[in-house]
Amino acid sequence: MKFKKQIKGLEAYQPGKTTEEVKRIFNLDKVTKLASNENPYGTSPNVKAFLENAKVNYAIYPDGYASKLRTAVAKHLNVSEKQLLFGNGSDDNILIVSRAILQPGLNTVMASITFGQYKHNAIVEGAEVREVPLTNGEHDLDKMYEAIDENTAIVWICNPNNPTGSLTPSDKIKEFLEKVPSDVLVVLDEAYTEYITDEKYESSIGLLEKHPNLLIMRTFSKAYGLASFRVGYAIGSEEVIYQLEPTREPFNNTVLSQEVALIGLEDQNFIEACRVKNNAGIKQYEVFCSERNLHYFPSHTNFILMEVKADSDAVFQGLMKRGFIVRSGNALGVPGYLRITIGTEEENTELLQKLNEVLHEEGVI
Ligand SMILES: *Cc1c(COP(=O)(O)O)cnc(C)c1O
Repeated sequence: MKFKKQIKGLEAYQPGKTTEEVKRIFNLDKVTKLASNENPYGTSPNVKAFLENAKVNYAIYPDGYASKLRTAVAKHLNVSEKQLLFGNGSDDNILIVSRAILQPGLNTVMASITFGQYKHNAIVEGAEVREVPLTNGEHDLDKMYEAIDENTAIVWICNPNNPTGSLTPSDKIKEFLEKVPSDVLVVLDEAYTEYITDEKYESSIGLLEKHPNLLIMRTFSKAYGLASFRVGYAIGSEEVIYQLEPTREPFNNTVLSQEVALIGLEDQNFIEACRVKNNAGIKQYEVFCSERNLHYFPSHTNFILMEVKADSDAVFQGLMKRGFIVRSGNALGVPGYLRITIGTEEENTELLQKLNEVLHEEGVI
C-alpha cells in the first residue's frame, strides 16, 4: 500500500479509559471522569428540553453551511457570517487548516508542550514541526518569532494553553502579530476562552480587523458542555475563510449538533454560572497544592496541571482504583504532574481527599 512515508510509525490518538471500563476493572459502583476537560455541570438545561421533543427527519442531510448557527455566532461575536468556518469540533478545524496549508518543504511553529493535534496533523501533511519550549507554562513568543523563516506557514498559539492552563497576555499577542510576516497564518486556539476571568485579558476578536492572517478557534465542547456533538468554529478574515472552505467536508456538522449549539450559545447565563463555579473549584486545588508544597500552574481554564512529587502513572492508578479518572502527566509530556479537570465542588473535595491518600501511600506527604 502506498501510504505517506510520514504515516509509518505515527500513533493514533490514545483515548483514556471510559468510566464503564474503570467500573468493571476495579469493581466500582461510581466512577468520576475528570480527564478530558468536559463540563461537570453538563450543558444548558434548554438543550435537554429541546432533545426530549426534537422532531428531526433523519433521512435528510444537514445544512452544510450551518446557516442558522452561523447567523447566531456571527451576531454573538459581531463579525460577518463569511468570517466563520464550522468544524466537527476544533479538532476538525485544525485538520482543515493543516490540510489546506501544510505540505513538505514548509514548516509550522508551535509550543512544547501544547495541544497534540497541531503536531499530529503537521506530521500527516509532511511539514516540518518546530517546537519552542514554554517558559513557566506560557508561550515564549519571542523565541517562536525567531523560529519563523520564509518557509513557515502556520504558527499555533494555544491560549490558554493545554495542558498548562496558562494564559499568554493579550499585549504580547498583539505585539507578536505586529511582527509576524503577513503570509504566515497565526492560529489562536481559544478552546477555554469562556473560563477566563483575568481582568487584563482582552478579547482577540478585535485583532482580526488589522491582522487578516489571524485565525481564532473556539469550540462548543468545553464550557458549553456539548463535546459529544462535535461543533467548533474558527473566526478569521473573509479571504482566509474562503480559502479554507474547499478543504472542509460538505456536511461536517449534524442536524442535531447545529441545533443544540445554537441553543447552548443563547444561554449565556449558564456559561457565566459555570465560569464562577469553575473559578471557585480552581481555588480548592490551589489551596491543596499550597498546603502540601506542590507546584501548580495558575489556571485560566477548567483544568489544573499540578505536581505530585511521585511517578504520575502511579498516582493516576491510585486515583483510578478509588474511582477518579484524571490525566497522567506522563501521557502529556509533563512527568511528575497530573492534569485534573475541575469538577463540581463535591467532586473536587472527594478527589482531593483520595489524592491525599494516594500521596501518603507514595510517601510524598
Ligand atoms: C479540547 C480541545 C480542542 C478540541 O476540541 P473539540 O472542539 O472537541 O475538537 C482543541 N484545542 C484545545 C486546546 C483543546 O483543549
